[in-house]
Amino acid sequence: MFPKGDVLTVGVIQAKGSPDATRDYLRRWVERLGLQHDEVERSSGHLTQWRSHDSPLRRGSVIVAGDAAGLLDPWSREGISYALRSGTWAGEAVARVSVARGNDGHGALDSYVDRVSTELMAEVSAGLRLLRIFEAHPALVHFFLGFSGLGSRLFVGVCNGTTRLSTILASRAMRAALAVLRL
Ligand SMILES: Cc1cc2nc3c(=O)[nH]c(=O)nc-3n(C[C@H](O)[C@H](O)[C@H](O)COP(=O)(O)OP(=O)(O)OC[C@H]3O[C@@H](n4cnc5c(N)ncnc54)[C@H](O)[C@@H]3O)c2cc1C
Repeated sequence: MFPKGDVLTVGVIQAKGSPDATRDYLRRWVERLGLQHDEVERSSGHLTQWRSHDSPLRRGSVIVAGDAAGLLDPWSREGISYALRSGTWAGEAVARVSVARGNDGHGALDSYVDRVSTELMAEVSAGLRLLRIFEAHPALVHFFLGFSGLGSRLFVGVCNGTTRLSTILASRAMRAALAVLRL
């Protein structure tokens, strides 16, 4: 739920292909927030998609960034920071091409692809792993994030960019906990 001036945006994330279940999920969420009697100004749905390792980032002199490149966290569907980071790097690469000659230009575009693959794909993959864990054990993830101090701190850290989901999932403690839970 996001406050926006004098209106609220209220939404849920659900896997594609279950429209009735999605509407029911949204209805229950709205009720839980106590907003069921408020006027609905606009109702809409959006498809969000994320890249796989071999989704193209460049073809010839064209590079893609943000949503066009499928850069978002599959678990939270957070895409703004991915769009800002990849968009900045894409702009820098294109600027280098404009001052380079010959193959140097191609190198700049390749370096964009490498940077996205190295720095952002680890986060997309970690988000997908968390999504699969969440789908299998939603109550466990809710409990960890909402009722354990560690989970809350990690969640806030990921949201404000001071820690990365990939770092958390790769930590020895988390790997041990997931192994014990067979996740
Ligand atoms: C309902 C919903 C809620 C979301 N909530 C969050 C959130 O809370 N936090 C978060 O981080 N992310 C959220 N996201 C994801 C986030 O909005 C996107 O990942 C992010 O906006 C991607 O930025 P972008 O610049 O790549 O694409 P966009 O923001 O889609 O920008 C692309 C722009 O290009 C324009 N355009 C398209 N085609 C053309 C054309 N041919 N010529 C000129 N212009 C064109 C479009 O009109 C648009 O303005 C949400 C997404 C949805 C759908």
